[in-house]
Amino acid sequence: MTNKPNILLIYTGGTIGMVKDFETNTLRAFNFDNLLIRIPEIKQLDCNITTYSFETPIDSSNMSPEYWVQIANVIQDNYAKVDGFVVLHGSDTMSYTASALSFMLEDLEKPVIFTGSQLPIGDLRTDAKENLITAIQIASLQDNNLPQIQEVCLYFEYKLYRANRTTKINAEHFEAFTSPNYPELAESGVHLKVFKHNLLNTATKGAFNVHENMCTDIAVLKLYPGITEVVVAAVLNTPNIKGVILETYGAGNAPTLSWFSKLLEAALLKGIHVVNVTQCSGGSVIMGQYETSMHLQKLGLISGNDITFEAAIAKMMYLLSKELTKNEFKKCFQTSIKGELTDYFA
Ligand code: ASP
Repeated sequence: MTNKPNILLIYTGGTIGMVKDFETNTLRAFNFDNLLIRIPEIKQLDCNITTYSFETPIDSSNMSPEYWVQIANVIQDNYAKVDGFVVLHGSDTMSYTASALSFMLEDLEKPVIFTGSQLPIGDLRTDAKENLITAIQIASLQDNNLPQIQEVCLYFEYKLYRANRTTKINAEHFEAFTSPNYPELAESGVHLKVFKHNLLNTATKGAFNVHENMCTDIAVLKLYPGITEVVVAAVLNTPNIKGVILETYGAGNAPTLSWFSKLLEAALLKGIHVVNVTQCSGGSVIMGQYETSMHLQKLGLISGNDITFEAAIAKMMYLLSKELTKNEFKKCFQTSIKGELTDYFA
């Protein structure tokens, strides 16, 4: 018997475990055992590690809500047995999965740390080792026998972020992620510094459970100069959708053309929830600041405030499956559930 923390490492795929297929000259997901053999340093860590691997590891471009549920269920099945989780995931859609999990893992009180890498673990210059080893150390951190971190995070290139605040910003740099509207939770240098005041306040908790149902009846409308009525109509009239993420300019601004407002109004009358999210990576939606957002405010659009696009998608799928009234939906969207946005008061 040891008092070392127990960590479950969940491998879903991604570059971290990929190898070059010399026939096609592409990177493809590889077997998990081979991945661990390449990091013997793991044995030196002061924790007990158990592993779970997707039967067929995937490139995260193939990620889907079904896989999110699979990851959530693995966490649930092992929740009582382990002190923390590390999820190895491709970086391309890591922010989406990690944001979704932040909502689906209701009343989470243990760390779930997502990480991956830009170069495969077998590459001489790989960033995988540091990311994986430090992610495991972070998941092992305890205060008075309780996990220090009790939320879903993303660790990449020396920084720990709140997962639902992150976005992938670079396809080449080791520093692939940023958290434009929320400070880091921890930084790894000579010392591992946790900024405790930035961690999620986990008071008033019920029992941990997994919310499996994510509603995918949604659409995204990204504005651009020259967008035509026929395109806007096509998106807003997509059959059976229940929610739309409207990606606007700057502080939540959009054209004031009457056909645009009419199409939005018709969608709202059909009961579709429309959330205003800015295309800017930093800053927030402030409807009413400019004349070009007054009409959106008057129509009653929901403000995504400073939420990322990835978290907006996840939150919409989560809330739509809760069958809320129009007003409840708006209030819940504009209020932080897992620290994903700054509360918005209309
Ligand atoms: N295409 C890879 C993936 O997302 C990229 C990566 O892992 O960094 O699975």
